[in-house]
Amino acid sequence: MPKTSLPILHRESLDNSIIGTHGRCPRKAYYNYFLNRGHSGVSYPLKFGEAFHKYREIMISSYIESGYKWGLSHAMAGYQAAFDIYPEDPPIGHKRDWQTLGRLKTTMEVATAHFMNEMQMGSRKVLYTEQPFTLSLPSGRLFGGRMDEILEWNGKLWVRDYKTTARMGPTYGNKFDPDNQMTGYTWAARQLSGRPVAGVIIQSIYNTKTKGPEIHEFLTTRSEGIIDQWIESIEAEYDEIETHIEKDVWPMRTAACDDFGGCMFREACQFDHWKDIENWLLSNTTESVWDYTNPTEEKGNVD
Ligand code: SF4
Repeated sequence: MPKTSLPILHRESLDNSIIGTHGRCPRKAYYNYFLNRGHSGVSYPLKFGEAFHKYREIMISSYIESGYKWGLSHAMAGYQAAFDIYPEDPPIGHKRDWQTLGRLKTTMEVATAHFMNEMQMGSRKVLYTEQPFTLSLPSGRLFGGRMDEILEWNGKLWVRDYKTTARMGPTYGNKFDPDNQMTGYTWAARQLSGRPVAGVIIQSIYNTKTKGPEIHEFLTTRSEGIIDQWIESIEAEYDEIETHIEKDVWPMRTAACDDFGGCMFREACQFDHWKDIENWLLSNTTESVWDYTNPTEEKGNVD
């Protein structure tokens, strides 16, 4: 007997978000990625990030389709696509009330100026934007994701990943080394291209109430040995997830309850009976199916 009457999604492939969340707390992954329950409200930081990614995707794909002939119309198309996604200014008094449509516009303008400068330097050429992938691991199980960009720089291929963040300190760049998401991207880009891939360029767009937008760039490289260890780790995580699915047992790792300012499922995890958990999920969350090939279509987000 399943624990709840909510439908369980049988996923054919997993991505870094699902595997990473399951690693922190299998119960949270169960609620979010297998029962498909997410926030019923708007998460302004996530929407801001989604809007920025959409701007980038539309601007760069329009630029590539034009045969790499730059014009401000590419940027304007990107701005419009972002404004179509970002719902409105957060309400006054909201802790992210500075994340306004005006700040989104300024952020995109700064990013466009940065990109134009990069074009003038002429050493980087973006080949693909928003590249989804679903690839076989050695066991035959599938691992997927979506890379922001693949580009050529000084004769080497690199993945580029965009982060919108309100945190930036002297050690910010350290968090990408090691980092499974970046290793997975490097592995995937090698598989897709059949070429060596040096690693990932992380471009972080930093905004706070009083600072930004600022652009900070970090490089992280990956060797064959690191990728081999990543494959071994992902296969082991997959084993564990399959065991939890098979037994329908989803351990609660309470060390993760304070992640990202506090897990949204805290109340659910305090009920005695699964029927009460199910009722809480139905009343307090919305159906939200995570699809790594189409992240902006998700209705609610967990963090
Ligand atoms: S409240 Fe804690 S135990 Fe429950 S799902 Fe969230 S992280 Fe896991």
